[in-house]
Amino acid sequence: MEWRGAAVQNVGMTAAALPLIAIDGPSGVGKSTTAKRVAARLGWQYLDTGAMYRAAALALHRAGVDLTERAALESVLARLDLSLNEGRTYLAGEDVSEAIRGQEVTRLVTPVSADARVREVLVDQQRRIGDRGRWVVDGRDIGTVVFTRACCKVFLTASPEARAQRRYRELQAKGQSPDFEAVLADLQRRDLADSTRAASPLRKAEDATELDSSDMSLDQVVDWIVARHQAHP
Ligand code: C5P
Repeated sequence: MEWRGAAVQNVGMTAAALPLIAIDGPSGVGKSTTAKRVAARLGWQYLDTGAMYRAAALALHRAGVDLTERAALESVLARLDLSLNEGRTYLAGEDVSEAIRGQEVTRLVTPVSADARVREVLVDQQRRIGDRGRWVVDGRDIGTVVFTRACCKVFLTASPEARAQRRYRELQAKGQSPDFEAVLADLQRRDLADSTRAASPLRKAEDATELDSSDMSLDQVVDWIVARHQAHP
């Protein structure tokens, strides 16, 4: 009897839940910092899918390949030797963590991540990494496409002004003199591109919980996600 009970329970579990937290949302909302902290609290690993799209954009740029050159694109994707370790991103063993945060890659990643073939290859890699669970994964399509069985899906938002303000302060802290209107315009450009593209546009999964973090501190957001996960593991 006990065995049957357990089996019935397991059937439900396999259909429903993968122990994985999916955090989706627009640019500049603090997904990666939040996801890293949530992962540390739970003793889980953190996967930054944005870094994967950025590394792919860098690889294409270095190879001088345009998205219209489909054969060359396939060849770069076939040779794409991408790895993530301890928060660093590597291309063929080279640490490209700084290079992928530069302005050039930030500009190029929008069209590269809108390419359906690029997404297919990277989503496949993401699924292979996270398929056993115990990961916190952030991106744009994690709850809607990549890990639809994630046990906890959060759609993290904040007003464009609040996100631009955070980004503005980050750049100032790095010793730069940013222009607030330019930072805001860049975020809005990326929001529009991410949410209107044909391939996996940014949207909230039906079973995701939306959290507007405009007036919340990072600690409050992390506490909220950990509590949400613990209430529905
Ligand atoms: O998160 P981050 O800003 O580093 O992501 C870089 C870009 O990669 C985003 O602007 C978005 O266009 C794209 N992206 C995506 N799907 C993901 C993660 C990122 O399309 N899962």
